[in-house]
Amino acid sequence: MDYELSDAHKLIRDTARRVAREKVAPRAAEMDESGEYPEDVFAAYRDVGLLGLSIPEEYGGSGAGFLALALAVEEIAKYCNSSALILLLSALSTQPINLGGSEEQKRQWLPRSAAGEIRGAFCLTEPNAGSDVAAIESRARRDGDDYVIDGEKVYISGGSVADYVIFFAKIGDNGTRAVSAFVVPTDSPGYSVPRTDRKMGVIGVPTANIVLQECRVSAANRLGEDGRAFRTAMLTLNTCRPVVGARGLGLAEGAIAYALDYARERKTFGKPLVDHQAIQMMLADAAIQIEAARRLVYHAASLVDAGKYERQDAPYLSIAKTFATEMSIRVSSDAIQILGAQGYMKDHPLERHYRDARQLTIVEGTSQIQRLVIARAMIQGEINYW
Ligand SMILES: Cc1cc2nc3c(=O)[nH]c(=O)nc-3n(C[C@H](O)[C@H](O)[C@H](O)COP(=O)(O)OP(=O)(O)OC[C@H]3O[C@@H](n4cnc5c(N)ncnc54)[C@H](O)[C@@H]3O)c2cc1C
Repeated sequence: MDYELSDAHKLIRDTARRVAREKVAPRAAEMDESGEYPEDVFAAYRDVGLLGLSIPEEYGGSGAGFLALALAVEEIAKYCNSSALILLLSALSTQPINLGGSEEQKRQWLPRSAAGEIRGAFCLTEPNAGSDVAAIESRARRDGDDYVIDGEKVYISGGSVADYVIFFAKIGDNGTRAVSAFVVPTDSPGYSVPRTDRKMGVIGVPTANIVLQECRVSAANRLGEDGRAFRTAMLTLNTCRPVVGARGLGLAEGAIAYALDYARERKTFGKPLVDHQAIQMMLADAAIQIEAARRLVYHAASLVDAGKYERQDAPYLSIAKTFATEMSIRVSSDAIQILGAQGYMKDHPLERHYRDARQLTIVEGTSQIQRLVIARAMIQGEINYW
């Protein structure tokens, strides 16, 4: 199903498919074992221009947009979700600048990000503020031409391999109106990464604890006006939701395709697994869910490309993210089931896909938070089925 893909979209999808097969697939199991960030995969994306898909042309990107990014992420995620996350982070770390930065800030940070010369991370979550973003406790105070920032962030994807982070901190006490954002170079005095996490999946991209202690950055690094960054954070997350959905979509496709190949070969009771109806039902259920998810994800990404990612459009972005990510858990679980004991073994990629899928319903707004957004729109009549 091509879902009205332009020739440019197809080209990007095919480029990502080639990179996925040639560069990502051979490395996926190894990075899951070692936990080492795959610089070679990042370089492969850079070499074919995949790091600037969400960045406008005037700032050095290709301006291809979020449907293009979702297509690329889907292809990569068929083989490796850590590598898919690297591509997603190219948008998550630059969107706050793209959406909330000044012309000068865009020129300073976006072209080098698109070219893969530098990379960023998105620092929102804190020990006492995950779903409840407004509860963040990091503080920034003005001191002459600088800001001095203190705070701790947790679970930051790629935080230990970033050249800069988008760091959200409060100036004053005015609730969400106090939230500001700063571009903080990771070599700033007072910036530290005390630890990276031991975790269940998506092991190729480190998840880091980041502490800023009396960290001094130039006032020129504050994104937008004082206290306006809550909106920037929310819009950034909205625009990236279809891309998280694409991580789930590709993961499910890769998992069930692998299981189908196996089921053609493996025989029980004198015939291949694919000839048993119970296996066929699992295959068909996977296809039904994948096709539904693909339409939701592509549609949501197209909404973002059309500039529809404000509050009134958010429920549709949440629906795509929730369905595609939850679907990836179900389908990767069934894929394991189709292989039987072999599915449980590390000789096959399915247990890795299953562990990786488990991350997707938690990050960038849990499934519960997405449902709050969707239900609120229903209750307020913005989604009306009459
Ligand atoms: C591998 C990984 C990578 C991550 N990368 C990043 C990153 O790069 N940058 C970043 O800023 N953060 C990152 N995160 C953090 C992630 O965004 C948060 O974990 C997520 O927002 C949930 O916050 P929490 O873990 O504090 O859960 P909590 O907010 O403590 O929630 C716990 C549980 O309660 C539920 N819950 C909470 N409030 C409600 C409510 N009002 N109604 C119903 N249920 C509710 C949640 O859905 C969840 O099930 C990452 C997390 C992981 C696991």
